[in-house]
Amino acid sequence: MKTIGLLGGMSWESTAGYYRMINEGVKQRLGGLHSAEIVLYSVDFDPIERLQREGDWEGAAAILSEAALRLESAGAAFLLICTNTMHLVSASIEKSVRIPLLHIADATADVLVAKGVKKVGLLGTAFTMEHDFYKGRLQRVYGVEVVVPGPEDRKTIHDVIFQELCLGRIRSESKAKYLSIIEALAADGAEGVILGCTEIGMLVSQEDTKVPLFDTTVIHSQKAVEQALLP
Ligand code: GLU
Repeated sequence: MKTIGLLGGMSWESTAGYYRMINEGVKQRLGGLHSAEIVLYSVDFDPIERLQREGDWEGAAAILSEAALRLESAGAAFLLICTNTMHLVSASIEKSVRIPLLHIADATADVLVAKGVKKVGLLGTAFTMEHDFYKGRLQRVYGVEVVVPGPEDRKTIHDVIFQELCLGRIRSESKAKYLSIIEALAADGAEGVILGCTEIGMLVSQEDTKVPLFDTTVIHSQKAVEQALLP
């Protein structure tokens, strides 16, 4: 089994989900007392979030590249960045290490393509919904059209992530707002919706809606299990 390197803490609430899901996946595949070999570098999210808000992506990339190097020297065979947003600087992080990166948008795209999804809604932080690094990759590399909510709904989605989910707060009013935004994207022709922020699965799940949901934390964790167990 290969050792999985998790670059986490963004937020630790969702990294805890990765840890659990990866271990569950390995147990399911290998049975008995098997569990995943993982090294985790969990950052302090407060300075990272400040750098995001200030638009200092180089500063954030420097912190995360250093953390990735530490994971590599601790024996990780490959790397996961446990947040969609920080894939904005994935190219810099990739450059700082020799081990490969399992990109969260590639893992998600593989599932979309396998299911024949051609047009998909995307929920995430404002950075993920508005910059090109995520939507562009899905569109250009995989030919999947990506639609995002309007400005007011994007603000709601973003604020709930940072003011509630990253702090472990789950509120039914926020869940209702998310579900109505998901339904609106589907009414606009999205065949499914990407939960493109690793905390959203804490708030909404497939049981809440008929619209197919693609939870990036689940998908990314499953990909890590597959990769770790490759011969
Ligand atoms: N975990 C989130 C994501 O997947 C948001 C936190 C962050 O800004 O990194 O995008």
